[in-house]
Amino acid sequence: MSIIELRSDTFTQPTPGMRQAIANAVCGDDMLGEDPTVNDLEARICQMLGKEAAVFACSGTQSNQMGVWAQCRTGDELLIEEGGHIANYEGGAPAVLGGVSCRKIRGTRGMLSADVLQAAWRPINQHFTPTRLVCVENTANLGGGVAYPLKQLQEIRDWAQSHGLSVHMDGARFFNACLAGGYTPAEVAETCDTISICFSKGLGCPMGSILVGSKEVIFHARRARKIFGGALRQAGIVAAACVYALDNHLDRLKVDHDNAQFFAREISTIPGVIIDPAAVETNLVYFEIDPSVATADQVAQTLARRKVMVIPLGPQRLRACTHLDVNRDALQRAADSLREVMTSRTFTSECTTQASAYSSR
Ligand SMILES: *Cc1c(COP(=O)(O)O)cnc(C)c1O
Repeated sequence: MSIIELRSDTFTQPTPGMRQAIANAVCGDDMLGEDPTVNDLEARICQMLGKEAAVFACSGTQSNQMGVWAQCRTGDELLIEEGGHIANYEGGAPAVLGGVSCRKIRGTRGMLSADVLQAAWRPINQHFTPTRLVCVENTANLGGGVAYPLKQLQEIRDWAQSHGLSVHMDGARFFNACLAGGYTPAEVAETCDTISICFSKGLGCPMGSILVGSKEVIFHARRARKIFGGALRQAGIVAAACVYALDNHLDRLKVDHDNAQFFAREISTIPGVIIDPAAVETNLVYFEIDPSVATADQVAQTLARRKVMVIPLGPQRLRACTHLDVNRDALQRAADSLREVMTSRTFTSECTTQASAYSSR
């Protein structure tokens, strides 16, 4: 039996069609702006989001940091929900690359609101770190893969504008958010100054991200990309996969969301598994293990022996993620395995690692 990989949507393999698109890619020197495939991808994303400019990047971390760097100066701070990727899973990059500190604010289900931002607001004076940027994550990963309601984003934009701040969206799963939130890419883009979108998650590409915004901000983001060592040459090889994904993998994200619902409902009847299927909005299924039964690590390790891979993201918290390489049958088998493991109550625990190594992705 083959491995059922539910740890992340980053595990997707390029499909034969995508590999063909990569093989046929028309290329130029992207650092000089002359790669036709990269230019095509950037133009298409601008069109979809109704923004002036876009710049291709190697990874979501890179495009997020290009957005931070382009909109903040050394000594500034950004405001972010406390579980946010930019502040927790990018190696301290805002401080390392741009001298920018992150002020973490507790939100609700990983999301900020105009109210919590207002409560955290500090005026500009000699004491405080100058606040320059608000970062929102959509979907909010640790919040449960939830999509911001459009109204909440509009209120954040209005609040940010009235306080002279810019808004950056970490849209690693941007199209999942549009689908679950019931808004178009342009509607949500209108609430942010910059948006970073990943192609290596649910869209199934081997790599690639894009940052969109105004001409002026993207000019600075291109400088950042160069400084970070991320300006590439024949990047059309990669961008061709991204164009392919826009044509072939966007509409199927609904399948991932439906599959996540299916999996959530299946495991909700397992004794010792705590989950509310109604709280699952996209392709990320978070669930908890009753502490009197086992730890998240124990369950993950025991499932791994049965070739079912899920990721612990807290002492009792696990995540299973649907994507284009898992179908209903695989999810049924994964749910059955979890049921067996939880009922047998025999757990593998080679290492009793504490929850310190919780990665995101
Ligand atoms: C995956 C992800 C990113 C980008 O991370 P990379 O490791 O650079 O691919 C950014 N934000 C969130 C919320 C993510 O899940």
